[in-house]
Amino acid sequence: MVDIPCTDKELFLLKKIASVAEELAVEAYLIGGFVRDKIIGRPTKDADIVCMGDGIALAHKVAEKFNPKPTVAFFKTFGTAQIKINDFEVEFVGARKESYSYDSRKPEVVPGSLEDDQNRRDFTINALAISLNKADFGKLIDPFGGLLDIEQQNIQTPLDPLQTFSDDPLRMMRAIRFATQLGFTIHAETFQAIIDNAHRIKIVSQERITDELNKIMLSTKPSIGLDLLSKSGLLKIIFPQMMALHGAENVEGLGHKDNFYHTLQVIDNICETTDDLWLRWAALLHDIAKPATKRFEPGHGFTFHGHEVVGARMVPKIFTQLKLPLNEKMRFVQKLVELHLRPISLTKENITDSAIRRLLFDAGEDIEALMLLCNADITSKNKAKVKRYLQNFEIVRERLQAVEESDHIRNWQPPVTGELIMQTFGLNPSREVGIIKDAIRNGILDGLLPNNYEAAFNFMLEKGAELGLKPIT
Ligand code: ATP
Repeated sequence: MVDIPCTDKELFLLKKIASVAEELAVEAYLIGGFVRDKIIGRPTKDADIVCMGDGIALAHKVAEKFNPKPTVAFFKTFGTAQIKINDFEVEFVGARKESYSYDSRKPEVVPGSLEDDQNRRDFTINALAISLNKADFGKLIDPFGGLLDIEQQNIQTPLDPLQTFSDDPLRMMRAIRFATQLGFTIHAETFQAIIDNAHRIKIVSQERITDELNKIMLSTKPSIGLDLLSKSGLLKIIFPQMMALHGAENVEGLGHKDNFYHTLQVIDNICETTDDLWLRWAALLHDIAKPATKRFEPGHGFTFHGHEVVGARMVPKIFTQLKLPLNEKMRFVQKLVELHLRPISLTKENITDSAIRRLLFDAGEDIEALMLLCNADITSKNKAKVKRYLQNFEIVRERLQAVEESDHIRNWQPPVTGELIMQTFGLNPSREVGIIKDAIRNGILDGLLPNNYEAAFNFMLEKGAELGLKPIT
């Protein structure tokens, strides 16, 4: 047996499958990601078994050997079946041979040999198989040098890369995703084939592309994948707004940094402090409107005024385009993009409690996430500058904490609601309700009005009188 560190439970299950396969006189092999990850030493969650025959029949027979008998989920059209035993998922499929037509990534499938099945795999490291047959149980079948590629941390296709990527262009995203997750290098010829086939990504569904993009975003160092996407030409097609961040310009000796590489650095920074996919997306999008808002002011330099507001407005379109969820996750990203300059602006001198209170109010329960984003956004190469920023930032943190402890503004709602304003003056939803509500909220946030019901109610009556309104009771 190759030296793969299976647990006792896994080994028990694999031996069971082997004995059933023998009973049915079909050859069976472990194949794909499970073998790759065991050799690398990564955690595994599921195993794929390929057999020379009917995968569904093999799965049913294996299930019968367990008590209680696990459910067999099977898909007749694909010839696949899954069973789950103790959280361990096993998928069974008959070996197949595939052929593709130019306009689809869905192949024609016919039964094939183990060799055919290994030929249809995307990368040498994903084409490794281990025999579950009596004659050579545990033998590694490695026709393309996948083991060596794991040792050398190399990603390449088993067959001609141009054909492999043209057949199924999703494999280009997968190559870059594996390079990011594993820290491997994509072989030069394979990478050139991605460049040559990048335009073919258009036949892949957005959901599958975004799945891979999210896997890149969830890895330890997403910058690897985002940079490869950019260099391969894929990013220009799937996410042109991000590509537009490229370029450092210099006019009359006044320059600005390259916002693409700055963004990559901010993403890697934030990945050190959070696994939250949406906070990572906020890091990716925080400067997305810099190209759209860039101006050159002679004698002063480049400005990006309002990029946080324009950026927040771009978020729904980007989420729609990438088929990311249009729900509270999107609103969270939008809020963080919009607020990402606020904590930094509080590092200036003479900041009032009122400004601190307003930030707490606007950020609400997302204040911690916002602070992590701002911290990650400090990427200057000048060490003294970074140190100064971080120190100032620490002061802002302390003040935020002090104001929150005394005023409880986070998750706070003003003591007089719009509903009460309408009832008091007999109003329908209208501009006046908004004016009074804002005046009460601003009064409290600015510290001009005590934060209690009675003071707010009286202030509401005063404001109403100014607008010519009378209470109806
Ligand atoms: P992960 O679970 O991290 O996505 P994986 O390699 O297990 O990694 P799966 O999508 O579960 O990925 O695929 C299992 C195996 O099927 C792969 O290891 C590979 O051999 C093969 N495979 C998956 N997708 C493709 C594809 N688009 N083209 C060719 N082979 C593929």
